[in-house]
Amino acid sequence: MKPVIALVGRPNVGKSTLFNRLTRSRDALVADLPGLTRDRHYGEGRVGERPFLVIDTGGFEPVAKDGIMYEMAKQTKQAVVEADVVVFIVDGRQGLTPHDKTITDFLRKCGRPVLLVVNKSEGMKYTSVTADFYELGMGDPYVISAAHGDGVADLVTEALDVAEAQRTPEPEPEETAVRGTKIAIVGRPNVGKSTLVNTLLGEERVIAFDMPGTTRDSIEIPFEREGRHYTLIDTAGIRRRGKVFEAIEKFSVVKTLKSISDANVVLLLLDAQQDISEQDAHIAGFVLESGRALVVGVNKWDGMESDQRNQIKMDLERKLNFLSFAKFHFISALKSTGIGPLMKSIDSAYAAAMAKLSTPRLTRALEEALEHQQPRRKGSIRPKLRYAHQGGQNPPVVVIHGNALEAIDDNYKRYLEKHFRETFSLVGTPLRIEFRSGK
Ligand code: GDP
Ligand code: GDP
Repeated sequence: MKPVIALVGRPNVGKSTLFNRLTRSRDALVADLPGLTRDRHYGEGRVGERPFLVIDTGGFEPVAKDGIMYEMAKQTKQAVVEADVVVFIVDGRQGLTPHDKTITDFLRKCGRPVLLVVNKSEGMKYTSVTADFYELGMGDPYVISAAHGDGVADLVTEALDVAEAQRTPEPEPEETAVRGTKIAIVGRPNVGKSTLVNTLLGEERVIAFDMPGTTRDSIEIPFEREGRHYTLIDTAGIRRRGKVFEAIEKFSVVKTLKSISDANVVLLLLDAQQDISEQDAHIAGFVLESGRALVVGVNKWDGMESDQRNQIKMDLERKLNFLSFAKFHFISALKSTGIGPLMKSIDSAYAAAMAKLSTPRLTRALEEALEHQQPRRKGSIRPKLRYAHQGGQNPPVVVIHGNALEAIDDNYKRYLEKHFRETFSLVGTPLRIEFRSGK
C-alpha cells in the first residue's frame, strides 16, 4: 500500500509548486477531458522505486463556518489525520508568521508525524533561513527549494522512511497470496458498496474479516468467481461492523485514493435512486487521474420505472461523458442482478489495461492514423511522427517518437488516442499518449 504524504502550509508558501514537482511526470500524461471536474490536489509520485500518494491541501485554508469551503476544510483535516506523514511548509523568505503557529497547533493535535520544511531557500544559508522557525518547536527544519528542486528528493526519502516506520508490520502473506485482478470498489457513502461486497463474497466472509484483530487499515481479500481469481482491495470504509452499528460513514478521500492506487480495475458505484452529484464526479476524476481501468456500476436499478431509467441514462451521459471509455452496468447489489456481466467487463477492462502492444503493431497503427489525417503545421513547423512503442501498462502508455512533436495540438492527440483505442479494442482503460522528440 502506498504511503500518503500531506502537504500543509498557509497560502503562497509553495505547496502547489512542490506538489507539481512531485507529481509532474504523471501530470503531463493526462489529456484534458471536457466535463471533468478537476481536482489537482491529489497525485501520485515516485522517488527511485518508491511510489507514494501526495495531497496538496492548498486552497482549503480559509476558516469558513459553513458552505463548500467549510466542507473542504473538514476534508483537509481528515486527510491530514489519515496521512502517514505531514510535510509542513513555511516560507524562508518571509519568515515566521502567526498563521504558521496556528497550523503548528493544529498539527500537534492531530498526532501525525510532521516534517517542518523551509521552502524558497535557494541561495540561502541553512542557519539564517531556518533561525526563525525553531520557535515552532518542531526540531531542525529541512530546507528546500520547491521551484529549483534543491533538497526535494532527500525530503521525500525522509518522509517515506518516517511513513514506513509508522506502519504496523504487514502480516505474513497467507498462502493465498494476492492473485488475479485487483479490484477497488469506490463511491460515496450509501451507494451500496458493502452490499455489493457481501454479494460478491458472501455475508459470512465479510463479517469474519471484521472480527476484532483482523481489522487493519486496509486489506486484500482474494476471491474466486467462475474459475477466475480476484482480489478485493478493501479499505475499512467498505466493510460493515454489522447492521446494528450501521452509522453514516464519512467519506474519506485518502482511503478512496489508496484503494484506487492499489487496484488494477476500479469499480465506481453510483446510486440510481439519487442524482449524480459533484462528489460522484470528483471520485470519477480521481480514477481518471490514476489511470486505472474503470467499470461503472449504476446500483439500485431494482424497482425503477422505465421513464426514470431513461432519465438516469440521459443524466449519466451528460454529467459523466468524460468516462465514455468505460462500460456502464445497471445492477442491483441487493437483488444480485447484473453482477455476471459486470464481472465480465471487469475482466475485459483488466485485459485492456494489461494489453501488450508490440512496436511493429503500434507503428503500423500510427502509420494508418497518419494516412488518414496528418497533424497540422504550427507556423512553419510540421511535426513528424516516426514510430511508436509501448511505455507502460495499466494504463497502457503509447510513446510516439519523432521530431517537433511539441507542436502537436490536443485535438490531434485525442484523434491518435481514439485511433489506438479502436485499433487495439481497448475498452475500459484510459490510454495515454506521450511524445518524444529527437533533435
Ligand atoms: P501555495 O499557495 O502554497 O500552493 O504556493 P505556490 O506553489 O502557488 O507558490 C507561491 C509562490 O511562491 C509562487 O509565486 C511560486 O513561484 C513561489 N515559489 C514556490 N516555491 C519557491 C521556491 O522554492 N523559491 C522561490 N524563490 N519561490 C518559490
Ligand atoms: P455503502 O455505504 O456504499 O457501503 O452502502 P450500503 O451497502 O451500506 O448500502 C446503503 C443502503 O442502500 C442500504 O440500506 C442498502 O440496503 C441499500 N442498497 C444497497 N444496494 C441496493 C440495491 O441494489 N437496491 C436497493 N433498492 N437498495 C440497495
